[in-house]
Amino acid sequence: MEEQVKRVEKMAIIGEMAAGLAHEIKNPLASLSGSIQMLKGEKGWEPHHEKLMGIAVRETARLSGLVTEFLLFARPGSGSPVPILVASVVEETVALLEQDARYGHHVGVEVLVVEGLTVRMDLGHLRQVMLNLLINAAEAVPDGGTVIVSGYRQNRNAVALSVKDDGVGIDPDIVKHIFDPFFTTKKEGTGLGLSIVHRLLEESGGGIQVVSCPGDGAEFLLSLPCDPGGPSPRELRDRC
Ligand code: ADP
Ligand code: MG
Repeated sequence: MEEQVKRVEKMAIIGEMAAGLAHEIKNPLASLSGSIQMLKGEKGWEPHHEKLMGIAVRETARLSGLVTEFLLFARPGSGSPVPILVASVVEETVALLEQDARYGHHVGVEVLVVEGLTVRMDLGHLRQVMLNLLINAAEAVPDGGTVIVSGYRQNRNAVALSVKDDGVGIDPDIVKHIFDPFFTTKKEGTGLGLSIVHRLLEESGGGIQVVSCPGDGAEFLLSLPCDPGGPSPRELRDRC
């Protein structure tokens, strides 16, 4: 028991140090990336220099994406909980996904969220949760794949939200690892998407579960704190 407590304490200290380091890296990295962008814009580069410049721009962008993601995981903070209309955040993030050249062309997203459904949490956190889940779903489906986002009031205190895809699904051997930081099965993955989702939901007083069969898609089931001032389940049902 004592050993376990020591281990948890040690992990917390290492986590804090890593977060501190990531925070310190952020500013010099931003200057570096800005300087390289400006240099790349200058005229008179030889073609092979342009190619090298392109690599430097791409890799600094990848590094700053990783640092930003890591900080979101390590230091999410509780944010500012406010009442949020679920449908508007879902539609906004779906539009972001559809505009993205990497995913927009091959995935169809259907939204079935009960009208007027509200939750109480930080707006930025909910946007991030939705985006991470939608990106994973889009990466898991083949061309012409479908993602369904649905939401309803689960009970007095919670709203249920589901993000379901008909993609490759998740192997039972790896399903227990998918929320671990840095766990990825993708060539260019950071393995931070789901650990951020898990962390942000935990901070908001919600939770997440996954149901999946290999070859038969995956469904992420979220439980979110509802807005106490919002409409009751009966009022919402009457609107359907
Ligand atoms: P990354 O997307 O960078 O790999 P994530 O934390 O977002 O990291 O996801 C971790 C792993 O969980 C993925 O590499 C993938 O194996 C699995 N995964 C997540 N979402 C899905 C999904 N919708 N369908 C199939 N596998 C998924
Ligand atoms: Mg991901």
